[in-house]
Amino acid sequence: MSRFGQFARNVGRIIPSGVVRPLGRPAAVLFHGVEPITRDVRLQTNHHETAAFLRIARHLKTHFDVLPIEALDDVLARPDRHPRAIFLTSDDGYANTLTVAADILAEFRLPWTLFVSTHHVATGERNPIFLARLFALHAPEGRYEIANLSRPLILGPRRDGTATELVSDLRAMEMSKAQDAVDAMIGAMDRDRVNALLDEFASEAFLNWEQVRTLKRRGVAIGAHAHRHWPMNGAQDMSGLRDQARRSRALIEAEVGPCAYFAYPFGNKGDISRAAWLAVREAGYRAAFTTLSGTLDAASNRFLLPRYGLEADAPHLSTYISLLRAGNARVHRFQRALAG
Ligand SMILES: [Zn+2]
Repeated sequence: MSRFGQFARNVGRIIPSGVVRPLGRPAAVLFHGVEPITRDVRLQTNHHETAAFLRIARHLKTHFDVLPIEALDDVLARPDRHPRAIFLTSDDGYANTLTVAADILAEFRLPWTLFVSTHHVATGERNPIFLARLFALHAPEGRYEIANLSRPLILGPRRDGTATELVSDLRAMEMSKAQDAVDAMIGAMDRDRVNALLDEFASEAFLNWEQVRTLKRRGVAIGAHAHRHWPMNGAQDMSGLRDQARRSRALIEAEVGPCAYFAYPFGNKGDISRAAWLAVREAGYRAAFTTLSGTLDAASNRFLLPRYGLEADAPHLSTYISLLRAGNARVHRFQRALAG
């Protein structure tokens, strides 16, 4: 979480939401998946539990105007007219967005946008960061020489730190090299054991195209979250970035229908280069979302819009959202640093 996100949460615990409500500005918010119960937060970090997600949905319905993504242009043009506007979005394309989240959001009549990583929808291959963590936390103890990693991986009895370091190393690599490393990790494990773990963590399974079309028919807007779930940062070359932006849009348009919005994988500072947002603009999207916290009137660049990651539960959600404008200075600095 960003320093601002932490600040907002701390302040939110002591200030009643009515006091900060007049400070509210339009914003985009983000969740990933929703699971009845999560058992291992190290591997299932992306999922809200159903009971908490119900509270979040109720909170959004009560305190905000949750708008369809088609209203984005109007909100960006006239943010003052939409102080309570929220765009609700979900990233990656987990299967549980259909089996759990969609029913909850339909019950509350909340419009939402789903950003899918098309390689994963097309193949069912799990998120490479999840696979790397699975290896780091569940491979047998030992010393592993993995392709493209700068040093051998030593897996002992305590691994949480190793898993975190491994993920940060992978995020800093060119994506085909990082992908080869992840493939080598999974290849180094017993296949039956891997399959058993994939079953155990079925929360990480992706939607297939037919399921994405089902969501679309139910009114969910479908956007792109790149082709493969890797950062679009300075470690990636221009042709790779263009492919991430173009191919995801082309596949969604072929399988589902028009695709006008993009969300960057990971989406924080360090995950997006100047070449990345230029590639996204060139691919024909109308706008793109990061995961920096801020409000939508912070946007001088519609291809680097801020978006707030919803925390696990919602007791102070309306206060946090009302305070999001405090993150705008950081969003502006970020946008300026990547200026075209
Ligand atoms: Zn993602």
